Amino acid sequence: MSRERDKDWDQDLYKKVDRYRLVENLEQCLQCGKCTGNCPVAAITPSYNPRQVINDILRGSPVRLLNSEEIWRCFWCANCYRLCPVDIHYPMLMMQIRYYALENGYGLKYVVPINKYAFRALDEGLTFVPGRKGIEKIKKLREGIGVDSWPEVSDKAKQEYRAIFEQTGVVDWMRALEEKTEKPLSLSYLEGKIGTRGEAC
Ligand code: SF4
Ligand code: SF4
Repeated sequence: MSRERDKDWDQDLYKKVDRYRLVENLEQCLQCGKCTGNCPVAAITPSYNPRQVINDILRGSPVRLLNSEEIWRCFWCANCYRLCPVDIHYPMLMMQIRYYALENGYGLKYVVPINKYAFRALDEGLTFVPGRKGIEKIKKLREGIGVDSWPEVSDKAKQEYRAIFEQTGVVDWMRALEEKTEKPLSLSYLEGKIGTRGEAC
């Protein structure tokens, strides 16, 4: 993470990030570390520390926090929330941290590369479709356990999916992200680092 400077500190950071007051008891964090101890990402990525993220939010270190790769690691399994003794909804906090980061010009390099998956979901109802060989393998496995060979997404489901994307403004947001990219980016994921064009960010 970047080191913070005195002039960057913002005591109201947590109020700005959680501007709709969606995360109860945030100021009551005990810094007990149960969230970190039970996080599957932290288990395989020692630099990722939800307790530290909350500490940064409460102390008010925006540059250190928003400029960090760490805020893009959580995948919202909610294990931390399940075990937090004061019921802090960390996944909800993380969602807001990411919005706040993007609004302030941080983190685009982590988001833009995965925009193409969102566009695919918009068109096909699935974020990821394997290649021909992968599909054949999946079909055999599914037939082996007695379910439909391939989970087709119905036209009705696709239409509903698209309507939700459009009505919630997500499509506009995705297009705006595309325009912010000066050149096409491709995603790589090596040793726990998201990179573009093979470079670790
Ligand atoms: S488990 Fe809850 S109280 Fe403990 S450090 Fe994490 S957020 Fe704070
Ligand atoms: S929601 Fe995020 S921070 Fe919490 S346990 Fe899951 S991956 Fe870790």
